[in-house]
Amino acid sequence: MRKGIAVSPGVTIGKAYCIHDVYVDPNLTHVQPGEVNAELARFEDARRRSIADLRTLQEKVEVQVGKEAAAIFAVHETILQDMALLNKVRAFIQTEYLSAPAALAKTMDYYRTLMSRSSDEYMRERVADIRDVVERLTSFLSDALRKDSKSLDGPLIVVADELLPSQVVMLGDKPVHGIVTQAGSQTSHAAIIARSRGIPAVSGVAGILRQTKTGDCVVVDGRDGLVIINPDAETLAAYRKLEREFFDLRDKLAHNRDQPALTLDGQPLELLANINNVGDAKSAVAMGASGVGLYRTEYLYLTHTKVPDEEEQLAIYTDVIAASPSKCVTIRTLDIGGDKTSPFLGRSQHEANPFMGWRSIRVSFEHPQFFLAQVRAILRAAATRGCKVQILFPMVTNLEELRRLRAIVRRAEEQLTTERKPFGKVAFGMMLEVPAAAVMIDQLVEAVDFVSVGSNDLVQYLMAADRDNPKVSHLCQPLAPAVLRVLQSVVLACDKSQRPITLCGEMAGQPQAFVLLLGMGLRRFSMSPAFVPTIKELASLVSIPMAQTLLAKALRQKTTKQIQKLLIQELIKIAPSLEPVLMQ
Ligand code: PEP
Ligand code: MG
Repeated sequence: MRKGIAVSPGVTIGKAYCIHDVYVDPNLTHVQPGEVNAELARFEDARRRSIADLRTLQEKVEVQVGKEAAAIFAVHETILQDMALLNKVRAFIQTEYLSAPAALAKTMDYYRTLMSRSSDEYMRERVADIRDVVERLTSFLSDALRKDSKSLDGPLIVVADELLPSQVVMLGDKPVHGIVTQAGSQTSHAAIIARSRGIPAVSGVAGILRQTKTGDCVVVDGRDGLVIINPDAETLAAYRKLEREFFDLRDKLAHNRDQPALTLDGQPLELLANINNVGDAKSAVAMGASGVGLYRTEYLYLTHTKVPDEEEQLAIYTDVIAASPSKCVTIRTLDIGGDKTSPFLGRSQHEANPFMGWRSIRVSFEHPQFFLAQVRAILRAAATRGCKVQILFPMVTNLEELRRLRAIVRRAEEQLTTERKPFGKVAFGMMLEVPAAAVMIDQLVEAVDFVSVGSNDLVQYLMAADRDNPKVSHLCQPLAPAVLRVLQSVVLACDKSQRPITLCGEMAGQPQAFVLLLGMGLRRFSMSPAFVPTIKELASLVSIPMAQTLLAKALRQKTTKQIQKLLIQELIKIAPSLEPVLMQ
């Protein structure tokens, strides 16, 4: 039994499908000198098939998810055409008589070393893309690997170091019931994807790839962050029961899709969805969200080969609006930097603390033309008939920034008026993620139309504990007493100035946190679409006075552990049917 970080709730059992970096059969690392040409031809064949495969995937993903998600495959195709990389692989085959997979593994090592030394973080991050391409080539070269995944039937548990974007998309075809990763955290890419699909997942399980082999029986307990490899009969039977309960609950909750979100005492709530693309907007509808509370536009930039211009952005935003529940979308401007980088916007020199450095609006301010184009595209998309679009700015720290942001929106409106281009009025909102902004919220709130709390960042900054570092995850806790006090003061300040407030961090979809937020007076919650049915069910079992009493009790506790314990006990009493998804 291994313990990691619980990132997506539920219990599931399946066969391990291990995704290794590059699979090289230890018996096939070298070829004979006379086999060099045949090996080169085999490599060329794999390259051609990889390109064809990428194009098919690109088309499929374009239809299923949208253009922006599919753009990553064009990036990968350019790597498959890169002469420097290809010549390196060929040279290893010709001069060192390596087999093609071994030559690819050596090439991968070369780039990994080269790029890890680079002071340019963008270069360092391209390693993930090269790795993705090398893996695809290797799978075409290695029959064993392909048979491996094909011969597996039934539910699969993907075990990987971290999940690459293209792997996630490819998994769409496979019956993936669970995800376990060595790296990652609550807010990493794999975690967000797992949650948006409602798949139980555990991250941060160091060394799990070494301890598991494809075909092993694996239990994933995404509530407690546990992974069990080849359990004994008794353990397996116990988890099978929990798994059944989890699936039954999911099926049962799917039926509340068309019901309004109301508390036990009839208080209406807004349960909104966090999305990255058109596909997620459709999930938001399917799961019964009443709108989109957070559209993270940065994925558009992370997956494109060139800067999407205003017209391209307009087309994408218009599609997203059309696909969203009630055409109601809060669009967040670019939140790049920190853990996410974009090739187009340049970057500062190596940053010792990227999360506290050049990210979000701090980057956008330095690219005024580009920033203006994004704001203009959002305003123009808001001209869609019958839509309600809001613009949301991430990482706001002080009043000066809000004034600058207002001026940019005004300028975009003036330009569009002069150019006689139709645009819509959008509410102007700030994300509350920086502790300084939380301290000054009574003043800042007067300068905005609405506030959205980004608790993922707010918690990490408040607790000085990196949200993606498993070593400090015991500190980066949304139920910490300090976090609850700050959130309560922010909700009060917004209520006092009568500005709507939403919480769009991961804690909005966590039952324990949800009841406390409800007790604080919060009525608008934005979460991964898969959580909407659970939270809707929970809301129907809790009245506002019950939530207030629970909050008062929680605030009397002195430690995070005590608060967590109290909430689990109380929630099991209030909503016993939700036990399969209550995270410890
Ligand atoms: C947050 O910080 O809570 C948030 C919603 O933004 P992101 O997770 O994209 O940083
Ligand atoms: Mg954030």
